[in-house]
Amino acid sequence: MPRFYITTAIDYSNGDPHLGHALEKIGADAIARYRRLCGDDVRFAIGMDENSQTILQPAEEAGLTPTAWVDRIAGIFSDHWDRLHISNDDFIRTTEPRHTRAVTEMIERTRKAGYIYRGTYEGYYCERCEEFKQEKDLANGRCPEHPHREITWTKEDNYFFKLSAFNDSLLKLLDDHPEFVQPDIRRNEILNVLKEGLQDVSMSRHQRGWGIPFPGDTEHVVYVWYDAVINYLSGTGFPADGYRDWWPAELHVIGKGITRFHCIMWPAMLMAAGVELPTTVWAHGYVNWEGRKLSKSSDAPVTLETAEERHGPDALRYFLLREIPWTGDGDFSWKRFDERYNADLANDLGNLANRALAMITKYRAGVVPSGAQTSLDKKALETLAAYRSAMDRYLLREGAAAAMELASAANVFIEEQAPWKLAKDDSLSADLDRVLAGLARTLARLAILLSPFMPEKCAALWQALGCDREPSSLDAYRELDLAANTVHCEAVLFPKADSR
Ligand SMILES: [Zn+2]
Repeated sequence: MPRFYITTAIDYSNGDPHLGHALEKIGADAIARYRRLCGDDVRFAIGMDENSQTILQPAEEAGLTPTAWVDRIAGIFSDHWDRLHISNDDFIRTTEPRHTRAVTEMIERTRKAGYIYRGTYEGYYCERCEEFKQEKDLANGRCPEHPHREITWTKEDNYFFKLSAFNDSLLKLLDDHPEFVQPDIRRNEILNVLKEGLQDVSMSRHQRGWGIPFPGDTEHVVYVWYDAVINYLSGTGFPADGYRDWWPAELHVIGKGITRFHCIMWPAMLMAAGVELPTTVWAHGYVNWEGRKLSKSSDAPVTLETAEERHGPDALRYFLLREIPWTGDGDFSWKRFDERYNADLANDLGNLANRALAMITKYRAGVVPSGAQTSLDKKALETLAAYRSAMDRYLLREGAAAAMELASAANVFIEEQAPWKLAKDDSLSADLDRVLAGLARTLARLAILLSPFMPEKCAALWQALGCDREPSSLDAYRELDLAANTVHCEAVLFPKADSR
């Protein structure tokens, strides 16, 4: 069985989750669920980045110890992921001992290999990004991610990681393996950074009472970014025997703002420590609110709660993945969400299910007849090919679009075949069977294809067709036969939303 280890970036424990966090989890979850449909043995890890110094202030303001604070934030995040049906197998927190163990081992291996030295860091440091910035990275003298904050000039004795030693190896990596950074626009950005030449990076900070102690020097903690990316490895049990059951990862899903850490620093860290590299880092874009980036610092006009409650969690999942290209930025607005909910889910898919199930109930007493193949079966095979081609390349929007085309085709099929006319003439009974059986198969196929996007609704549709549990394999798609299944048509999958 092919294995597939997929991760998302771990989230900062200094505020509540917003739509941007949700987009990443939902997209990665759709990929994980798709790989499971394909028969892969999947491990899907998400988690929290808890060693940041930036948690100290909000913890103090809330009157909590840092530990109590990160516990609380981890609970808030994971509650959202449960509500959104994120099917993660692991929820790693970087304050866990298993993570400290992996970080310590990575640093010891790297030191032994001669890639760590002591030096003095002097330069800009964005406290919010927790990132050392070069003059050329700044916009109007400030961090472009945090334009409302002053950037600080810092000078510290630190441990340094000899990143510059990996410049050529990284260029070669991106040449030999264009799939290492995707989509291509992100790969080109990384290539440009590499062509300018890399500088060594600080990998420690002075101890301020929070963070992973630097191995061999308790006055320092491990620089939070150096520690954070190692979570992907700690999630496999590294360095314990058996970590290779899951490592190297097939896919790291991250946001486009943190590509340098994942596409330059992380592979260099792994090379330095003699650990295998992941296959692909996929950098998605941002969810914008009418063109503006949603971030923790801005008081967003949309919260994750309100977005989840609008039409339910599955509708939000579908909307984000169908509307925001997985390759770049996209816009969120209530108007667009309502329009797409009504057009795609209530009308195209919901109506199709309601009509087909109602006709099977009315004309065949709720039992799916057996019937010959129809033009819809042919369309379903074309759909499968387009869907797989998109999903195999992580093009989630195109995958969802391919599936929804099948729903549209089925609605056209109903109009063309007019089962209500066939039902009036007993001599056309076999034709009616053919139409109803074809519609039942199509609904079941839609439940399979759309289950990575809307797992709860697709399980409900699957069960409404008289099938057990939930759609679990693409293998079932081609030879599907629902004859003799008893359908249930009481459930309305997507009630039409009033315009607000
Ligand atoms: Zn910043």
